[in-house]
Amino acid sequence: MIHSVTLKNIVKIYNPGLFSLKVDKLNLTNDRIHVINGPNGSGKSTLLNLISTIEKPDKGSVLFNNEPLNGLGKKIGVLMQKHYLFNLTVFENVALGLKLRNYPRSKITPAVTKMMQKLKISHLSDRGVKTLSGGERRRVSIAQILVLTPRILLMDEPTSNIDAQNIFAIEEAIKQIHKKFAPLTIITTHCLNQAFRLSSNIISITDGKITDFLHENVFFGEATKTNEGLKTIKIAKDKEVSFITEKQGNIYIAIDPQNIIISKNIVPTSARNHLCGTVEKAEFCGPCVRLLIDVGAPLYATITRQSFKELGINLGATVCASFKVNSVKVL
Ligand code: ADP
Ligand code: MG
Repeated sequence: MIHSVTLKNIVKIYNPGLFSLKVDKLNLTNDRIHVINGPNGSGKSTLLNLISTIEKPDKGSVLFNNEPLNGLGKKIGVLMQKHYLFNLTVFENVALGLKLRNYPRSKITPAVTKMMQKLKISHLSDRGVKTLSGGERRRVSIAQILVLTPRILLMDEPTSNIDAQNIFAIEEAIKQIHKKFAPLTIITTHCLNQAFRLSSNIISITDGKITDFLHENVFFGEATKTNEGLKTIKIAKDKEVSFITEKQGNIYIAIDPQNIIISKNIVPTSARNHLCGTVEKAEFCGPCVRLLIDVGAPLYATITRQSFKELGINLGATVCASFKVNSVKVL
């Protein structure tokens, strides 16, 4: 059976003039996992909190199967950015929801054992949660929610502060639950690679608005013809990007971070675009590293951990980002 969450004419204002979330219409169904992706402060948690009814909108409505979201308390599993556990053992924490729902012990023990295995926390079963690391506690919180097989599953940055191997275990557990029970699943992440791994429906959000392009490496400018039959736009002082398009005038372009090759120096390749700059940030996303490079404008590039190591990249290092003209998407 198809379930849906619909947001209509939603407005949520936090700091008048500073941040507001506006969603005219968003309809999400349980036939696939949905991921909300955007940079820090773009409104991902706010959007999720409105869907979970933890926050009330200033205007508009949130409907579940076209009805107001009432009486579903027990059927919603919500992992908030700060999720609190009880001062009990790991096993007892994971079992808690099932106990409160009066499940018999004979059902609770196998369900909890299986979920702990999936999230690789079986060895922590008898430990008090106070003795766990932040990442371990996060996995216990996720197990506590997934074991309930909720009808609506909302998770805010489920893998923040979690190491690479365990990120995959969590993603796998979420996918398995979705495949088996098809809860209406909405996950937020600032990591675009994770969004691609989890979902075929990525909702991109920038400054409180849903955009129809992924937020990374989007540039705006006037397309200028070159002698080679290409077009260019200026993305920063003395920095141009070449690409192929028939379009004229002011346009948006996007460069997929995965199509960018990083080297220490400009190396001769067939790539026409070379932008050099300094590494400002390196963010570990599973097996990949997302680099933020200041080339006069912020440019994101995704490389493997292996390349990151082999190239010996440090924060502040100068690197060169190369990409082909046909890696540039004209929006
Ligand atoms: P994200 O989850 O994408 O990082 P948030 O939804 O948490 O972003 O926040 C979006 C904006 O709203 C930020 O500018 C944040 O400071 C502001 N904000 C979030 N929650 C509150 C709140 N309870 N009170 C005031 N401002 C808030
Ligand atoms: Mg958030």
